[in-house]
Amino acid sequence: MERCTPLAIVNAQLVNEGECYNGAVLVDSAGRIAQVIRGGAPVSTGGYRVMDAGGAYLFPGVIDTHVHFREPGLTQKGDIHTESAAAVAGGVTSFLDMPNTKPPATDRATLQEKKRLAQGRAYANYGFYLGASAGNLEEIKRVDSREVPAVKLFMGSSTGSLQVTDSAVLEQIFAQSPLPIAVHCETDAIIAKNLAEAKAKWGDEIPFTEHAAIRCSQGCLQSTRLAIGLALSHKSHLHILHISTKEEVEELKRLATTDGARYVTAETCLHYLWFCNDDLSRLTWQLKCNPAIKYKEDRQALRTALRQGVFSTIGTDHAPHLEVEKKQNYALSPSGIPSIQYAFVGLLEVAEQENIPLPRVVELTAHTPARLFRVEERGYLREGYIADLVLVAREAKAYSAGSLPIYGRCGWSPYQGESFHYRVKTTIVGGIPVYQQGVLTEKPCGQPLTFHSIY
Ligand SMILES: [Zn+2]
Repeated sequence: MERCTPLAIVNAQLVNEGECYNGAVLVDSAGRIAQVIRGGAPVSTGGYRVMDAGGAYLFPGVIDTHVHFREPGLTQKGDIHTESAAAVAGGVTSFLDMPNTKPPATDRATLQEKKRLAQGRAYANYGFYLGASAGNLEEIKRVDSREVPAVKLFMGSSTGSLQVTDSAVLEQIFAQSPLPIAVHCETDAIIAKNLAEAKAKWGDEIPFTEHAAIRCSQGCLQSTRLAIGLALSHKSHLHILHISTKEEVEELKRLATTDGARYVTAETCLHYLWFCNDDLSRLTWQLKCNPAIKYKEDRQALRTALRQGVFSTIGTDHAPHLEVEKKQNYALSPSGIPSIQYAFVGLLEVAEQENIPLPRVVELTAHTPARLFRVEERGYLREGYIADLVLVAREAKAYSAGSLPIYGRCGWSPYQGESFHYRVKTTIVGGIPVYQQGVLTEKPCGQPLTFHSIY
């Protein structure tokens, strides 16, 4: 099927499967990679539109396995159309959306509806988590693994009907889920106690810098340990989301020396690697998110762990809220950071600072997300695979993120005041360059992701 003009991307540094080398990629009219060419020799490009990368890096497009695009039901904050525009501006070509929308995506019909909403409106390719709730075990058991990447479980984090705290239900979910279980780990009881103490001390004026003490490391660690215990006893695949503390890093390192390591994988997010609690005195509500951004020593432990290979994926946890909602006092200000437009270039910046080679970065952003979530035909520069690609230049002089137009409905991000050397030049979704030089250049052309069957 004709999808796009055949495209030859020449003079690029290909970053893929353990290597970074000079080369070219040819994309056919079906939007698939026709050829991956090694070396700088001239390429015969008859019939192709030629895109000279000017020596920029060519990565497989980012597969962001953790976003909150707010549709349906919360579209004043963002929707699949607006947030996927921010995604491609950030080099993200595929996303997996979380189930805490309205109504929550806890059954097949709601998942079908989300998929329908994305059709023709998403700039990037899309997939949707099935949410676990206290009452949907049957939905989890009969989920179609070709359509759904994973189950999302909120363990003791206040998100209404999606919260599961009953230990018998948790046991059942881990025992019965045929899919990986991605878990938000925080213990509510610990947080509630800390919050009550803070309210007694500060009244309505709790400083945002208290967030890390209220949603504390102990609350994360206790819940993470519980989830690991459940995964090990049921031999199910647990993917722990947004690791934010040095204590959890230690726990994961201990686990890595045991047989249990094959049941547990972990994610962290750029905001835990980039910011620390000190930044909340400056950016206050902008950095309120759950789990909280912790302290300097946590950030360093997470960066070291990133270098050591403790994490399998880096999600954005892109979670937009309107400025007017966020600017309320601490207790009323909703948690969540819009970040997807800056997360990849920010990660490249962190990787450079921490001496993490680019092929290792692409494992975190494309190869391993594709493998863990069984995404078909994407995530690699391979002949025959779908051409989801991102061209990124490393500029000698850092630029301010605020100098670029911001995409996404809410119109703000804590990264706008930050500077980067890396710049997304072009994002290609299924062979179509949808974002070029700061501008959306095509209509939404994202496709539904398909997943390898687990059977
Ligand atoms: Zn999240």
